[in-house]
Amino acid sequence: MLVERLEEFFAREEEPRERDYFYVSEVSKCPRQIYYSVKGFPRPPLDGQSARRMAVGDDVHRRIVGALFSMGIAVAAEVPLPPNPLFHGRADAIISLGGENFVVEIKSVHPYQFDQAVARPRRDHYLQLQLYLHYLDVPRGIILMENKANQALREFVVERDEETVRRVLEQFQDLHRLIFREGKLPPLPDKSEWEYDQCRYCPFTEFCIRDQMNPQPKEVEGKPGSFAPQAGADAGTETVQAQNERAREEAAEGEKGPSLPEEREPDARDLSLFDL
Ligand code: SF4
Repeated sequence: MLVERLEEFFAREEEPRERDYFYVSEVSKCPRQIYYSVKGFPRPPLDGQSARRMAVGDDVHRRIVGALFSMGIAVAAEVPLPPNPLFHGRADAIISLGGENFVVEIKSVHPYQFDQAVARPRRDHYLQLQLYLHYLDVPRGIILMENKANQALREFVVERDEETVRRVLEQFQDLHRLIFREGKLPPLPDKSEWEYDQCRYCPFTEFCIRDQMNPQPKEVEGKPGSFAPQAGADAGTETVQAQNERAREEAAEGEKGPSLPEEREPDARDLSLFDL
């Protein structure tokens, strides 16, 4: 009675939006999934439980950032990247400790992931922080994880790694050229580096399977380089759509499973993307 009404209240449609840049939160994403997202392919509605899970993550951010301000060490929160052609995003906070500034990236994680990340942070968290350190020109940052189950905290102090930043920027410049200048669908990725099977939670599986069966998808009339309906305007910062992707990722944390689409043999058109 009430549960159904609450589910309906929290569930929401996701409006497809086309854009010509990437989000920092996409740094470890499947490049095909990024393609479908930036091209505004439609995705299934977000169910109520995923929406509530995302709201819990947002609450963690608010609570921690509020504490940083109360402690008098927060310099800024929700700090946008300076304008650049590749990435949009907002760092959670910049704090000052002992006269040094740190970018703080707050992550609310599944207990399994919390237990796994003892010696080092998750790769996607590390790469996101590296991009913030680069664009905000801060030498060191902190990945602060909170265990969703018991609110335990863990931190990793991370130095800016110029070589890693260079490789990430190169790879995303390649991806930008492939998608926006050449209008091509990226090849299927090497999944061996994935921390979880992104295909299981991908909102674009249907299109990905279709494009494997028909590698030359028909362009939508009047939309060169586009293969699906498009709507909406550019967004300067992370949109609800991107946040919803985050909710799906959070649902994936700690889980492993079989890939949905079948792998095809790589061919000469495949680029060696995302092999960090
Ligand atoms: S189904 Fe898998 S390979 Fe295809 S776009 Fe989604 S995540 Fe990428």
